[in-house]
Amino acid sequence: MMQEYTSCHWLQHGLSFENDHIEMCCLCCHKGGGRLYIKENYNGKDVNWDEILNLKEKFINDNKNGIIDPRCEGCFNLVNRGWEDTKPYINYIHFNHWTHCNSDCIYCYTKWDKKAFNSRPHYKVMPMIKDLFKRKLFRPDGEITFAGGEPTILNEFEELVTFLLKNGAERITVHSSGIKYSKAIEKGIKEGKLSVCLSADSGTKEMYKTVKRVDKFDKFWQNAKKYAKAQEKLENKIYVETKYILIPEINTNKEEIDKWMELTVKSGIKSIVIDIENDYCKELRAKDEEKPQYLIELCNYIIQRAKELNLNLVEYNNFRYLVTEYKLI
Ligand code: SF4
Ligand code: SF4
Repeated sequence: MMQEYTSCHWLQHGLSFENDHIEMCCLCCHKGGGRLYIKENYNGKDVNWDEILNLKEKFINDNKNGIIDPRCEGCFNLVNRGWEDTKPYINYIHFNHWTHCNSDCIYCYTKWDKKAFNSRPHYKVMPMIKDLFKRKLFRPDGEITFAGGEPTILNEFEELVTFLLKNGAERITVHSSGIKYSKAIEKGIKEGKLSVCLSADSGTKEMYKTVKRVDKFDKFWQNAKKYAKAQEKLENKIYVETKYILIPEINTNKEEIDKWMELTVKSGIKSIVIDIENDYCKELRAKDEEKPQYLIELCNYIIQRAKELNLNLVEYNNFRYLVTEYKLI
């Protein structure tokens, strides 16, 4: 049975594992700011699934009664539609619980103290994921996403992805620096169940070094090509993407964008992801300032160029807000 009300798929069926807590989702750059905690001060101890699902039910009932949590205000995931009225289950999981990374991006929240973030302890997720599947609380029709930190250097990563693939997960997305090659990612791509989003942020070696602060440009594109090869047999399907975060005044010029798109196409990749640096957008919002004209024009250029090159374009949050705000499409 379906019931119509305003809600979102994360609130209904999602979990986001963060470094020291569990949330409903990882969305935080809209007006309400997100942060709907499921468990605060969490460090990997056994989870009480009844407690989690009861909490979800409470939020869902509020939504049914038209009481939307203020932290959800302005979030693009909130929609008014028919929702299945069924026993609670989980089908969206976001792994974001570690901070170690083999890149050192200038825009990353870990830039303040890379050494500390690279040694910060994190809990194991395998026991609770196995428990979730054992209790049959997981439904495969949603999405499992990895952010972090760099997923491929997480100790449990290969085991976790292999377990998820073997146990029915149908849609996994991994955000990776692309510096370390993962056999589990390759397997997921070949099975048509996993997509990898590789963080390029540049089209030249010099810019890569400026933004990533590691000298791995060649390794990155070598791995990108290898992943693209893994999707070769799955014609017209997209499992590999390169991502570019626009960092105003640093990598926001057409030449760099052109080179990045060129390398993407040459590597056999058919999809790109675009976003705008989060701190920059937050600051503009706080000052109630408009986006500069050159940035709007560049975003428009990216949209047009992607069309010309037949590249699928995926808009991440800040880019998506800009496109909507300035009616670029
Ligand atoms: S509406 Fe947005 S902020 Fe609220 S739970 Fe859903 S995804 Fe998170
Ligand atoms: S790849 Fe991601 S986690 Fe790693 S430094 Fe860059 S932004 Fe941070």
